[in-house]
Amino acid sequence: MTGQAISLLETLLGKAGVLRDAADLVRYAADAAGPGADRPLAVLRPASTEQTAEAVAICAAAGLAMVPQGGRTGLSAGAVPPAGSVVISVERMRGVVALDRDAMTLTAWAGTPLQQIQEEAQRQGLDYPVDIGARGTASIGGTVATNAGGIRVLRHGMTRRHVIGLEVVLADGTILSRMGGLAKDNAGYDLCQPFIGSEGTLGIITRIMLRLCPHEPLSAVALLMVEDHAAALECLAQARIRFGERLSAFEGMWPDYMDAICRTWRLASDPFPGQRGFCVLVELRGRDAAQLDGFDDWLGELLERGLVQDGILARSQEDERRLWALREAVGDVDAPMGPHISFDLSVSLCHLGRFCAACDAALILLPQAGRVIKVGHLRDGNVHLLVAHDGSDKAARLISEAVYDVVRAYRGSVTAEHGVGRIKRDWLAACRDPAELAVMRAIKRALDPQGLMNPGAVID
Ligand SMILES: Cc1cc2nc3c(=O)[nH]c(=O)nc-3n(C[C@H](O)[C@H](O)[C@H](O)COP(=O)(O)OP(=O)(O)OC[C@H]3O[C@@H](n4cnc5c(N)ncnc54)[C@H](O)[C@@H]3O)c2cc1C
Repeated sequence: MTGQAISLLETLLGKAGVLRDAADLVRYAADAAGPGADRPLAVLRPASTEQTAEAVAICAAAGLAMVPQGGRTGLSAGAVPPAGSVVISVERMRGVVALDRDAMTLTAWAGTPLQQIQEEAQRQGLDYPVDIGARGTASIGGTVATNAGGIRVLRHGMTRRHVIGLEVVLADGTILSRMGGLAKDNAGYDLCQPFIGSEGTLGIITRIMLRLCPHEPLSAVALLMVEDHAAALECLAQARIRFGERLSAFEGMWPDYMDAICRTWRLASDPFPGQRGFCVLVELRGRDAAQLDGFDDWLGELLERGLVQDGILARSQEDERRLWALREAVGDVDAPMGPHISFDLSVSLCHLGRFCAACDAALILLPQAGRVIKVGHLRDGNVHLLVAHDGSDKAARLISEAVYDVVRAYRGSVTAEHGVGRIKRDWLAACRDPAELAVMRAIKRALDPQGLMNPGAVID
């Protein structure tokens, strides 16, 4: 049955559309969370929505499990294929299909890299404001499937806020198209919503219509060193009052993170040599210089009042790039850190300090836990907590239990933005109650009764 299905798929998709070489199967068996233990039976690369629908119908008839893939930059192993499954990659469906300047919308194929969307919008004086470190490789479909957050959530919200239309191939091959682009449309359930953040478990997204915003080409960036997270939150409160909508990023780098990247691993040069405090990266964006006025004065006032201990104001784009490199160095810590768990947690802002202290306290008691570093999107209450360990399953389990117990106690989330994937599936109950889990399972059963669409991800 499987062999027959693969032959049918080869006939449908042609040579470029079905990969079966061992090296390819290894490549498509991993995402940014690491390599999977199994290899897919084949990698399918349809070139259109219709081809995707026909391929899915063949797989469904043969009972073959399907794993949708975009750029494979996901951090939760959601795109890692289990044994006996086929990968359906959207990488051949790429490019911007339409950009409507008046309506400020952009339609693109799901495999289009996020950065290409941003650049095409900017060429028209517009912007797609969702931004993440993996922008050059992550596909727009993957960012919708994971409801990606990133560095500008403070100002623009997560991906969900920008999606106004989707075309999706359901688990039986049916094409669901909500690409009308109406500004107002209240006719029944909004069928786009369940697919945003569904991590490939409900269908394959093939085309997307996005809402754009005016491009703000100018920025002002500063790095502040403050005593602790409480002082950082006070700076945030004042920045929001002073700059309102112009405040576009407010990123937190705990002393343990700064120490690790600047001193231990030298991934970036130390901005405050000989001092070690809590660092905050603040960014304003605007359309003209007047919108950035007052930033220097504000920093001066904070320094004068002693709320900020030291600060660096970027004077050029190169300075801005250097300051952002400190924050983006988190993408380079995997190798020097060795085996570790990368948690993507969120709590209400008012609990953030106590929550981090409680995680630190729980981890100190565990001999299996090594170096701990914390960095995150401060305003969103989103902490990326990285914990080194000896590489054993036991250590990973004990550390996860300790951290997720704290998450439960503070009514936080086990994943702020990276998604549940396969890595966090068994911890979902730490932040979702039985009624919520039952509704999730009911939606999954209704849309994918055979359980073929990305089995093992998000929900069992
Ligand atoms: C350096 C780095 C920085 C990052 N920074 C951030 C950040 O700041 N914020 C953030 O939220 N994430 C971040 N990420 C995580 C990652 O980039 C995002 O999750 C991204 O949205 C994944 O896109 P992708 O195309 O690579 O998806 P993949 O990794 O290929 O897939 C991710 C999930 O989506 C599903 N999927 C992919 N494409 C489709 C589709 N067309 N239809 C249906 N399901 C699909 C997959 O099955 C899988 O479950 C970062 C990753 C890296 C490596």
